Amino acid sequence: MIRKFLFLVGLILVSCSSDDTGEVPDGDTPEQTGLTEFQLEFIEEYHYVTFNLSPTSFGGNLNEKWSEEVKIFLDGGADASYQESVENQISTLNDYMTDGTTLEVVNALSEANVHLYLGPAVDIENLWPDMFSFLSQGSFQGYALYSSSSSNINFGRIWVNNDGMPIFTHELGHVLGFGHASDARCGQNSSFMCSSLSNGFSTFDTGMIKTLYHPDITVGKTFQQLRPVIEELLLSESIAL
Ligand SMILES: [Zn+2]
Repeated sequence: MIRKFLFLVGLILVSCSSDDTGEVPDGDTPEQTGLTEFQLEFIEEYHYVTFNLSPTSFGGNLNEKWSEEVKIFLDGGADASYQESVENQISTLNDYMTDGTTLEVVNALSEANVHLYLGPAVDIENLWPDMFSFLSQGSFQGYALYSSSSSNINFGRIWVNNDGMPIFTHELGHVLGFGHASDARCGQNSSFMCSSLSNGFSTFDTGMIKTLYHPDITVGKTFQQLRPVIEELLLSESIAL
């Protein structure tokens, strides 16, 4: 079995230097598609985030997501209070997973397919030397790596250096298949996938999670293959923004 590892950059404390200002899709106007400008902007951002077009995120060329229950083990300095915060946050996320994929915290590493470690970076030098080697390339609060098989994400590792929910949610977002948001979506009403962390989810964030984890969105597809499916989800208001 070939298992590819996909590397996703965690939080970089310097601002992103992306000069991608977001192109207007060719030939897609409200008149041609029946979609609103807002919905067309959403599709553009969905492409940017889920196909990892940001220069600071790395992932597959084809659509990827989980097709099994996401079971997270909390390691390191994670205590009962941290677990409660995580469970609250994933409860919110579970409401957005429209294909029945669920997330839960499990009490044993052997049951988990996502391993989270909370603690200072030096703690993962021996645990995850590959991840540790990336941490020297910037100033990070967290980092996530995941692997997939045939575009199905099946294993993730998350390191966070603090017990805040913004960094947890951002790194979990990477493991769920989301890259960094475009600069246009970072500022006011920021996306949870901005390198500068945000609290909560923007309208586009909830729409993107509901879309990626919608049963009509299948893995291993190009954006061009998915675009008509996403347009139909919006036109039918299966995905409401
Ligand atoms: Zn990140």
